[in-house]
Amino acid sequence: KKIIIAIDGYSSCGKSTLAKSLASHLGYTYIDSGAMYRAVTLFLLEHSIKVEDQDRVQTALKDINIRFADNNHTLLNGRDVESEIRQMSVSNYVSEVAAVPEVRRAMVSQQQQMGEERGIVMDGRDIGTVVFPKAELKIFLTADPEIRARRRYDELAQKGQEATLEAVKANLTHRDHIDSTREDSPLRQAADAVIIDNTLLNREEQLDRAIFLARQ
Ligand code: C5P
Repeated sequence: KKIIIAIDGYSSCGKSTLAKSLASHLGYTYIDSGAMYRAVTLFLLEHSIKVEDQDRVQTALKDINIRFADNNHTLLNGRDVESEIRQMSVSNYVSEVAAVPEVRRAMVSQQQQMGEERGIVMDGRDIGTVVFPKAELKIFLTADPEIRARRRYDELAQKGQEATLEAVKANLTHRDHIDSTREDSPLRQAADAVIIDNTLLNREEQLDRAIFLARQ
């Protein structure tokens, strides 16, 4: 029986790497919910719409169509924005955008629709608590902040994107803060989530654990 797997946790703690490999192992669809918030952010930046401008944000949401191509590339109104949404300009604004209630409402409802066919692994901040409170398996990933910053920095460097380790660290701290201290914070650990601390686990060890949990 195909199930829904929710993977939540802080920024850059390896959620998408684990979620992708788990989905491919199980023959499931992987959905990156953070990419959706990033695509909305890119759209607002491109149209010079500030989050404070509620009317324009609301109108913009109607003009935004987010899809995923077969290779997990994010499509914003049909355009492949996968590398643009990973840029620091987007990372620096995405948590503010994701804090807008209308934005969350729109994304959560799209994510729930995507889950209707089941057999999905979705990663994010509120997947096990808000999007799929009934997910059969919920994993909450954590990792040491230094390690997270280093991983994200290496990832950006690999893609040839300019950023200093200090800037990456500052950005992670900033997003962690907004993501976890907001009144309706999306980053909560579901009571029935299994915690995996991957500070000392390599990719295979994390995947083995997740596969074991998915089979139960
Ligand atoms: O997962 P990623 O780090 O790419 O997500 C970018 C940002 O999108 C997060 O820092 C968070 O502010 C927001 N987000 C969210 N809810 C999710 C996924 C991401 O608020 N389910």
